[in-house]
Amino acid sequence: MLIGLSSGAAAASPTPATPTPSPTPVLYSAQTLAESKQLQQAALASDYAYRQVAHLADNIGPRLSGSAQAQKAVEYVAGELKALGLEVQLEKVMVPHWVRGEETAALVQFQGQAPKTTQKIVLTALGGSVATPATGLTAEVVVVRDFEELASLGKEKINGKIVVFNHAFDRQMAAEGHGGEAYGQAVVYRGDAPSAAARLGAVAALVRSVGGAAYRLPHTGTTHYAADAPKIPAAAVTEEDADLIAALAPQGPVRMHLVLTPQQLPDALSYNVIGDLKGTEHPEQVIIVSGHLDSWDLGTGAIDDGAGVAVAMQVPNLIKQLGLHPRRTIRVIAWMNEENGSRGGQTYAQEHADEIANHFAAIETDLGADHPLGINLVGQPELKSFLVPVAKVLENSGAGLLAVKEEAGSDIDPLAKLGVPNFSPIQDSRFYFNYHHTAADTLDKIVPRELAETAAINAVLAYALANLEQPLPR
Ligand SMILES: [Zn+2]
Repeated sequence: MLIGLSSGAAAASPTPATPTPSPTPVLYSAQTLAESKQLQQAALASDYAYRQVAHLADNIGPRLSGSAQAQKAVEYVAGELKALGLEVQLEKVMVPHWVRGEETAALVQFQGQAPKTTQKIVLTALGGSVATPATGLTAEVVVVRDFEELASLGKEKINGKIVVFNHAFDRQMAAEGHGGEAYGQAVVYRGDAPSAAARLGAVAALVRSVGGAAYRLPHTGTTHYAADAPKIPAAAVTEEDADLIAALAPQGPVRMHLVLTPQQLPDALSYNVIGDLKGTEHPEQVIIVSGHLDSWDLGTGAIDDGAGVAVAMQVPNLIKQLGLHPRRTIRVIAWMNEENGSRGGQTYAQEHADEIANHFAAIETDLGADHPLGINLVGQPELKSFLVPVAKVLENSGAGLLAVKEEAGSDIDPLAKLGVPNFSPIQDSRFYFNYHHTAADTLDKIVPRELAETAAINAVLAYALANLEQPLPR
């Protein structure tokens, strides 16, 4: 029973008739809490994290796995962490190497068409997509809202067609602060629709972009070909173009010419960048603080996820700046290949399987850089009581909430499955999916103050956990 950990835990427990006097277990020393407060203040006053994401986005640019920019980013972050005095290692990860090609589409037949004209369709290939013939393919278009409608049409109506999945992202849900949930509902089509259509004989699959704003920007992202289905070309059309096609289709036959020429090259050697700030008392016990270094290729990977890497790098920077000495090791990780394979997170969990008991906690920031509201936690429900003092430190910048979640970050999730408590900042998600995976994921979308608030969560949480007086429940 967690007496004294928090009023919440105490209230939930049956009250004994005669309270047994027992000392309240100390979670954090007064010194740790005071130093955590200093870290928060220093994070809010520092532009280090912003300068790091600015370099990744503006100077290096898009960092898709296997690209020259991804390699440059590995070298850059390793160099910066060394400059902070960390013990740095590059952990080998074999990553998929997919490169985008030409991507154009036009409606070449539709009701009301002026002679010798076409209607341009704005789209972008989904990550991992196979190519059309170099000169493209032309086929009739069928629009469906969901998998049920696809199944109801059957092979007879789908065979030989380009299927457009017009499943809308729930903007209201995002506006209410549940951007991640809205994304989750719609993204299943990006992942599974191409194989579902291919099983019924479709020649290509297009999905309505999974995102919250309509500026005729397509949102890319990875797709998953099922083993039992032919691989067909797959792309995301903009919201506007999905609506256009859906409006024309009931009026008569609509035919599209589609050109997609991406290439899947052999897997490439890449790296997770790992930097340790060694603990003074328990150097073998590790608190991971992380973001993913790879990004999609359309934008410059500022909010997804240069920001997450930058706020992780800020943690040892501030600890060094303030001359503090965490008792457990704080390990910065810049993960490789979150976007189109998750090989970095998977490789790490495999390579470190025999050290899992010494993985005290893992933190990942990968939901953008907007104002953070608090901390998500994944693990035993009792974890919440352990974070109440941390939330108090963060309260004054509006980041004092604690939320129990199923997942905190895809790179650290393999560790959660092995019992390692996982954490992430709760980010304001109302606007993130307007830009996510588009050409508009650029540095200007980051408000420096809000990025600093997220860096403060990373610094306070990582340092407090490194000095926690008790083991975390797991
Ligand atoms: Zn991401």
